[in-house]
Amino acid sequence: MNLKVLLKEKFNHSSFREGQKEIIEDILEGHDVMALLPTGGGKSLCYQLPAQILEGSVLIISPLVALMEDQVLQIKKMGEKRVIALNSFLSNEKKRKVMPSLHKYKYIFASPEILQSKYIINRLKGIHFSLFVVDEAHCISQWGHDFRPDYSRLGQIRTIIGAPPCLALTATATKDVLEDIKRTLHITNPKMHIHSMDRPNIGMVVKKVDSLDEKKEMLLKYVKELQGPGIIYFSSRLWAENIAQYLHDEGFERVAYYHGGMDQEKRMLIQEQFINNQLSIICCTNAFGMGVNKPNIRYVIHFHFPSQMESFLQEIGRAGRDGKPSVAILLHSDIDREIPEALIKHEFPTKEQTEQVIKYINQEMKEKGKFINTKTVEEYFHTTFSVSEVQWRFIQYILQMDEIVQSQFDTQQTVEIIEDAASKRYFYKHKKLKMMENWLNSQGCRREAILSYFDENLKSKPLSCCDICEIDWDLYKRKSNEGNEWMLPSWRQELYRIFHRNE
Ligand code: ADP
Ligand code: MG
Repeated sequence: MNLKVLLKEKFNHSSFREGQKEIIEDILEGHDVMALLPTGGGKSLCYQLPAQILEGSVLIISPLVALMEDQVLQIKKMGEKRVIALNSFLSNEKKRKVMPSLHKYKYIFASPEILQSKYIINRLKGIHFSLFVVDEAHCISQWGHDFRPDYSRLGQIRTIIGAPPCLALTATATKDVLEDIKRTLHITNPKMHIHSMDRPNIGMVVKKVDSLDEKKEMLLKYVKELQGPGIIYFSSRLWAENIAQYLHDEGFERVAYYHGGMDQEKRMLIQEQFINNQLSIICCTNAFGMGVNKPNIRYVIHFHFPSQMESFLQEIGRAGRDGKPSVAILLHSDIDREIPEALIKHEFPTKEQTEQVIKYINQEMKEKGKFINTKTVEEYFHTTFSVSEVQWRFIQYILQMDEIVQSQFDTQQTVEIIEDAASKRYFYKHKKLKMMENWLNSQGCRREAILSYFDENLKSKPLSCCDICEIDWDLYKRKSNEGNEWMLPSWRQELYRIFHRNE
């Protein structure tokens, strides 16, 4: 089968993007493949196309429900019906219906959580998989316990389902992270496809401000001047909501906020509206954006800086997927550092909290012979010991890693193990934060420095590069003839036109 013909017939693309063809060829030859392609570089095609040629099914592990649903939709759009997503959205009824015929599906998407279910694994065991895909593979390492402890078990799961060849995809990985991915997924000798992470069409600007008021003023100025649509990132839910309101009060009506504290349906709705251009600005936390395939995002503004470079590169990478000029602006003031500092600190339990939790678990084991983790337990820890969800997840992660929960254990020793892990993890995160800050405060080319963080040398500088080199603002500003109407929703635009026609 000629790959290019298939590309045209099935996917309606006339040529491969950088790296795609070589990756696909290696997959077709049955190799394990690790691929690093820039954000928006076309990673999905690297498994979607081989799936059309390979016999059997392809299992794709994807970290977010929204991301998965989006992929399923895209595949359906190209006329392929043999696609299913196994995640918490799948009703029991639907599950009962699809499970017996699961092997008939070509593309089986699964969340890492659902793969913890013995029932699902048993069903998957009977299927012939020709490829095991881990999308956003940096989740294994970048977020570690914070995000997906379940990612760390993917290697085992791959073995259980018959050890099919593996494709790990990511847009942001340092050498260490690549090593982590390899180790966790039990990949021994993969074909590596490492491409530049640079996004030359995204200009990078760090704008120093002296106060919060100045920051808000600058934000307003940029939002008024720049071509939309755009994303504005905040480090807290409250800030995302407040600034959305502030922009609304300033006359921007197509603004919404998005964060993890909203229910799933509301989040999906906002995401849909943004993708369909009904909203032009989204104020959000880092809960938004992964896998959002919206080509025309013209700017990404950081109102607060993220706690590591990996997150930053992922977040700005959501701009300009259509290849057109786009800009990433980070508003920076000296007091900002307190926020990520505090966030990191609060990810880990204090010694006292750990002791309280461990004593409780041990007591349960003594009395009932086992400890079962439930939502009620989590709430109890929260109200009684002020242990947050993230802190409890961390304790759980360490307990499970050492399989301590299986049997009775020594309280003091366990507390020490957790303490030790927490302090190592804290220093690691702190180091990452420091690197982010160094980048903010450095005097060298922003692009060069980001790439060198990922062990890459910048080969050629775009004309509009960064605030240190040179930035051509005309590329990003709205043209004067575009007026201000874009701030208003479409029905208002109509009314506006009708009433002002003769002015
Ligand atoms: P990412 O690498 O971020 O996962 P995606 O796989 O979501 O990127 O692809 C981003 C966009 O690029 C999609 O709209 C996809 O259809 C498009 N795309 C992928 N490959 C090609 C190609 N060879 N030619 C043109 N467009 C492509
Ligand atoms: Mg992707």
